[in-house]
Amino acid sequence: MRNRIVIKLIISIVFVFFSNIAYSQTEFDDFFISKTLRLDYHNAGNADTSMIFFERLKEEPFWGGSKVNLIDKFAYGDYMLSVFDSISNKLIYSRGYSTLFLEWQTTKEAKKINKSFYETVIMPYPKKTIRIELSIRDKKNKFTTIFKLDVNPDNYFIVAENTPRLKYHKIVNSGMSNKKLDIVIISEGYKKSEMKKFLADSERLTDSLFSFSPFKENKDKFNVWIVEAPSINSGTDIPGHDIWKETVLNSNFFTFDSERYLTTKDIKTTRNIAAVVPYDQIYILVNTAKYGGGAIYNHYNLSCSDHALAHFVFVHELGHGFASLADEYYTSDVSYNDYYDLTVEPYQANITTLVDFDKKWKSMLDKNTPVPTPTTKKYIDKLGVFEGGGYLAKGIYRPKFNCLMKSFSTNEFCPVCKKAIIEMIKFYTE
Ligand SMILES: [Zn+2]
Repeated sequence: MRNRIVIKLIISIVFVFFSNIAYSQTEFDDFFISKTLRLDYHNAGNADTSMIFFERLKEEPFWGGSKVNLIDKFAYGDYMLSVFDSISNKLIYSRGYSTLFLEWQTTKEAKKINKSFYETVIMPYPKKTIRIELSIRDKKNKFTTIFKLDVNPDNYFIVAENTPRLKYHKIVNSGMSNKKLDIVIISEGYKKSEMKKFLADSERLTDSLFSFSPFKENKDKFNVWIVEAPSINSGTDIPGHDIWKETVLNSNFFTFDSERYLTTKDIKTTRNIAAVVPYDQIYILVNTAKYGGGAIYNHYNLSCSDHALAHFVFVHELGHGFASLADEYYTSDVSYNDYYDLTVEPYQANITTLVDFDKKWKSMLDKNTPVPTPTTKKYIDKLGVFEGGGYLAKGIYRPKFNCLMKSFSTNEFCPVCKKAIIEMIKFYTE
């Protein structure tokens, strides 16, 4: 009798498990085909206002994302892309993301001039008419819709060109892209004659990525592709030193006057090149020995290739770009002013203003650990609530004295960052 109940239970668990997957996969097949639809637009404005201007829609050859987890469950990022079925009004795809424009809005320059940034979002290619909505998070963490577009997939203006023919290799192969987390590494500032170096640099940094926990334990959930996009010159722009290089993705140091902040505004070319392979995360590897990097959540990651700390930069930036983790440091110079509002709980998993700490790592804390936690020897290796983080010495708290999101004097992410990374890996691969 007991066995029977157990067997019945197992059958029903198995049924629920598989029926869930089957249901979601059916959802994908009901609404989408295995290609990508890309929306390109301009985000323009200044410190106080922004407007979205439509540019174009583009069809890309692969869909590298999950076919099961279509709806964002994290609500990280400053913006949210939502896709609705036009007839039923049902939400069929969503994804949080951030932008370089929003970072720029917090700089001094944004108080003086208007500027425009090219932006892109991607979604699986629809079978039927959809409505795309972009929303922005306000200061109080509420999303407001700022752009709506109805898209008929038969519209003949959907661009089906601009995916270049470039050489690519799969340097980590764990299986089908829809069930794995695919990182595409694009060469930036490598001449045609330097592609062997690009391959060696990519392999070195990828090996290093999978030496850090929790990437180490989850290597079998990743595919890593590299795309050889040659540049005319070697290196990248260093405007503060009057160094200018002709490179395929137009990257530069000194973003927003921060010397080490390495980014590109050319997301259009970046996405065109990434589309050569199926991907979830874009990694731009910049051929330089100068220290620097940058990453924006679900937008792109950049790292220098040859600095002695490049392997740390590589994994740290992925923490931002892939898992939306905040910087836990507060002593280095940044260009942002009032990046975090201390009266609001930030959305990033690894910092808190203590406004709504219940939603953060409170349940992971030892009940004897004081909040805030003193930086004494007793707590230095413990999970706590340490003041200083998110570019501010006061009012923002981080989970551990040290973490790869704070400094490179440790080899480890703190337990809160680890948990956030693991949850994100699962979201892409379960
Ligand atoms: Zn951390």
